[in-house]
Amino acid sequence: AIPSINRPISAVIDTKAFRHNLNRIRELAPESKVWSVIKAKGYGHTLEAALQGLGATDGFALLDIADAQWLRDHDWNGRILLLEGLFHQAELERAVALGCDMVVHSEKQVAWLESYANHAGHSINIFLKLNSGMNRLGFRPEQYRNAFHVLHSAGYRLHHMTHFANADQVDRYPSVGEQVDCFEQAIQGLEAATSLGNSAAILWHRNYLGDWIRPGIMLYGVSPTGVFADIVRSDLQAVMTLNSEIIDIQHLKKGEHVGYGGRFEAPEDMKIGVIACGYADGYPRQASDGTPVWVQSAGGDGGVICPVAGQVSMDMITIDLRGAPQAMIGSKVELWGNEVPVDDVAHMSGTIGYELICALTARVPVAVT
Ligand code: PLP
Repeated sequence: AIPSINRPISAVIDTKAFRHNLNRIRELAPESKVWSVIKAKGYGHTLEAALQGLGATDGFALLDIADAQWLRDHDWNGRILLLEGLFHQAELERAVALGCDMVVHSEKQVAWLESYANHAGHSINIFLKLNSGMNRLGFRPEQYRNAFHVLHSAGYRLHHMTHFANADQVDRYPSVGEQVDCFEQAIQGLEAATSLGNSAAILWHRNYLGDWIRPGIMLYGVSPTGVFADIVRSDLQAVMTLNSEIIDIQHLKKGEHVGYGGRFEAPEDMKIGVIACGYADGYPRQASDGTPVWVQSAGGDGGVICPVAGQVSMDMITIDLRGAPQAMIGSKVELWGNEVPVDDVAHMSGTIGYELICALTARVPVAVT
């Protein structure tokens, strides 16, 4: 989709906030190098903004080799980690040409690398992934040492890596402690640098971060738990702000209903604001009545929170304007950002901030500031 130039919706990506959040991560984990995780086009913030705001990182971790190519084409000479390694053997030469580090998590990938070992001149950094209990990707402990030895003998530079399933939760299996025990046993006697910590571990389990941390969500100022309050004390700033405007106002009589399904019923005579933003822009259709929307005051000085009232539709949402008597057509609104944490919108929609920031659609114009 080509973004609209006249419809008043836009996403603003604040590269200063990226810098601030990366600095906070360095303060929290001064001993570790930082892979800034920018898969899914920088969690929906664009690669351009990520490169501009996170240029002080030690490396970028991403999924798609095309994104690695984009970074090289835009003069990123630092390290790049392919977080799931190679999806196909044919990617190997390209990954080497781009100077990528790669995660290795499967026997198939080990075989591809073994057959490549005699190519002259490569110096590939491998992050060998241990499945320490999450049971998604990685070698089980009993297979891990063999994979390590095979790649080590083939001349690759090896690092140990694992990923936490529950660093944002208590009382869940496997716990961080259980995964760390498994990791320490599996790597015993195999000398190499380590990589463990995701955002939740950086926030709450700083004894187990490793030499290379891999923060994603906290770089964007969003909580790994889905509860904004959990990161307030860590002083992170929202990088993405989703803005729009009130494009119409309806004057309802008591007992009238709003939108598809008539989900909201006016408890008294009242005004409803119609906003140019819907699920085709990436706003969650599941947002329930009460989901906060910030409406700027008439003078432009501050604003108030108004609740969603009625079902989100493809191009519009409707809000209860009883708390904002001054609101008018053209009033600016923030759907999420620093006034309305995306975590709060996600919470009211039965999901997590990760999903919302990644799901902004192509028709929303993005401004990188
Ligand atoms: N490391 C790996 C292997 C991941 O898959 C992810 C994201 O899911 C991250 C790090 C970053 O996690 P977070 O965004 O929770 O910090």
